[in-house]
Amino acid sequence: MNAYTEIPMVPGPTTLHPDALAAMGRDYGSGQIETAYLQLYADTQKLLGTLAGTGNDMVIMTGEGMLALWGALKSCLAPGDRVLSVATGVFGDGIGDMAAGLGCEVRKITLPFNATLDDLTAVEEAVDRFRPRMITAVHCETPSGTLNPLAELGRLKAAMNVPLFYVDAVASLGGAPVMADDWHVDLLLGGSQKCLSAPPSMAFVGVSPAAWEAVEQRAYQGYDALGPFRTVHSDGRCPYTPYWHGTAALHAAAAAIVAEGTEQVFARHRNVARQCRDGLQEMDIRLFTAENAVNSPTVTAALVPRGWECAAWLQALAARGLRAAGSFGPMAGKVFRLGHMGTQAHPRLMEKALQVMAQVLEQGPAASRR
Ligand SMILES: *Cc1c(COP(=O)(O)O)cnc(C)c1O
Repeated sequence: MNAYTEIPMVPGPTTLHPDALAAMGRDYGSGQIETAYLQLYADTQKLLGTLAGTGNDMVIMTGEGMLALWGALKSCLAPGDRVLSVATGVFGDGIGDMAAGLGCEVRKITLPFNATLDDLTAVEEAVDRFRPRMITAVHCETPSGTLNPLAELGRLKAAMNVPLFYVDAVASLGGAPVMADDWHVDLLLGGSQKCLSAPPSMAFVGVSPAAWEAVEQRAYQGYDALGPFRTVHSDGRCPYTPYWHGTAALHAAAAAIVAEGTEQVFARHRNVARQCRDGLQEMDIRLFTAENAVNSPTVTAALVPRGWECAAWLQALAARGLRAAGSFGPMAGKVFRLGHMGTQAHPRLMEKALQVMAQVLEQGPAASRR
């Protein structure tokens, strides 16, 4: 421990919500599937559906967000299926690679990683020529600190009769409006450890009727398969022993957001994100995101200040209690990030984080080398 207060600002896993923490500490039934678990599962499905803006079925799996990303692809796609990956960052581009790894024929439209979706002419042309079975996209590109507007892409998907729209909302759901049904999303991917502030190891997928049809047709079997979750309620069975504590924590975290009021929660995220950007600007720290890109309300990506090595910068912040993060892919070593999502979207916390950065900047890189 050091003399400074810990200021957690890593973009996931976030600090646990107290209600999620309390839910983890309780004892639950026998660990077998019981009526009480099925009720908890149903209640959690409903809450997550509310946050995701969908009336579709919600599959809740034990595992990381990546499990949902893989499971949804593997459950719906067969080798040779055409997939159009629309990407503005590491995750979006990676999803294209994942589909290619499954033997799909993948076409990628990859924009600069500091941009967000805007003009969809190229996408429209690609859909027209390539006729994909699935379009994939990411709502919040966590490594870039951006939030892609998806309504237009969803409209295009529907208008051009693309069967499936796959959206990774792992880092936005619970911190920004997600309207899966309005956006014509068929597979809506989420995770527990970002804006929800529940522990890692729960993932979920909103599944549209069209996606369920694809799942039935593919009949994929595996630990990450969506199929067996379709009958949880009718059979009263899960495909494997459910993680009761994890589900309870996810439920408590989602319930806390709904209780606070989604509009209030989204406003809290927007305000703290603005506070973060304004504060960085005051220190002459430049944002990574392009001028006309949409900054995410849940995470901010900025350029490592001049004269600093990324690792030394993060270390100097950590020495004063501020836990920030680096980034991935082409941004590694150049970009650092502040995750102001869920419990971490708090003005006093952000104020402290900005103070620490100002202090470290004032001391300069030489001080940290001593
Ligand atoms: C964190 C994240 C994931 C993966 O979640 P894990 O819990 O690390 O598996 C996927 N997509 C995005 C956009 C993320 O930020």
